[in-house]
Amino acid sequence: MVGTVPVGGGAPVSVQSMTTTLTSDVNATLQQIAELTAAGCQIVRVAVPSQDDADALPMIAKKSQIPVIADIHFQPKYVFAAIDAGCAAVRVNPGNIKKFDDKVAEIARAAQDAGTPIRIGVNAGSLDPRLLQKYGKATPEALVESALWECSLFEEHGFRDIKISVKHNDPIVMIKAYRLLAQRCDYPLHLGVTEAGPAFQGTIKSSVAFGALLAEGIGDTIRVSLSAPPVEEVKVGAQILESLGLRERGLEIVSCPSCGRAQVDVYSLADQVHAALDGFPVPLRVAVMGCVVNGPGEAREADLGVASGNGKGQIFVKGEVIKTVPESQIVEVLVEEAVRMAGEMGAE
Ligand code: SF4
Repeated sequence: MVGTVPVGGGAPVSVQSMTTTLTSDVNATLQQIAELTAAGCQIVRVAVPSQDDADALPMIAKKSQIPVIADIHFQPKYVFAAIDAGCAAVRVNPGNIKKFDDKVAEIARAAQDAGTPIRIGVNAGSLDPRLLQKYGKATPEALVESALWECSLFEEHGFRDIKISVKHNDPIVMIKAYRLLAQRCDYPLHLGVTEAGPAFQGTIKSSVAFGALLAEGIGDTIRVSLSAPPVEEVKVGAQILESLGLRERGLEIVSCPSCGRAQVDVYSLADQVHAALDGFPVPLRVAVMGCVVNGPGEAREADLGVASGNGKGQIFVKGEVIKTVPESQIVEVLVEEAVRMAGEMGAE
């Protein structure tokens, strides 16, 4: 358990993100956590690089709507502070934990007593120098050896409430590392392609890597790392889980790419429908199709849809045409019908 969220052992895969505020700014951090929670984030991580950040943890852990993981490098004293603060878990990094060696027994005891899980978070960029030397670079084997070595330090003290990540910026290396790790241990795994890049590139890299692993049943929590606001990370993470059927689908727009046959502006229609129904309170599949080739078929299969032609749109509800409207009214009528359907399903 990470706070109230079950992790591993067949529990649903959950979405994590990390705040970008100064953790010591309690109000800003709680505000960002609230935004992440509203976007579908289930576990949040906060960085703890200073005493001021450590001092803020009790209030953040108490007021956050979702479990808070303290992310700690270099300083064992902040690990104890995070455990005392009631954080749901603590993340430590083996590459930066050298100085922790003589503290591992103490950390294991404190975490055990408080029931606080530890995430062993290996990153290619901060791999233990000993392993860098042995393998020449951050290979899958090096990442896995680093993680398992760190686990063994805790296991020696009887502590096994552990989750592991072995992140790399290259999805191919990352996929191999997690596959190897899944063969070598039974701990829950947190997936991440680290430093994945700006939103577009990072979304693709994370989707490809997580898709491959999750489809094989590897991965218990995910964090999409983007050089973009963390709410975007959460939206991408949620969409990955929805696409794989690992989370109930929310709004799904089935829209065609448009082609020389299109008789309406499909891009604009799809964007408008998406914007109007984003965050809709019930699962809904909406088809937005540009002509009569595939339009009626897809629109019929969806909960709600439009098959366009000749400046008009045939509106489908649950497979039946309910009316034909001019192009200018398509979005408005789709939204009206969606709201009506949500009402019938008992949503506000
Ligand atoms: Fe082209 Fe029609 Fe297919 Fe859209 S539905 S891609 S407009 S053929």
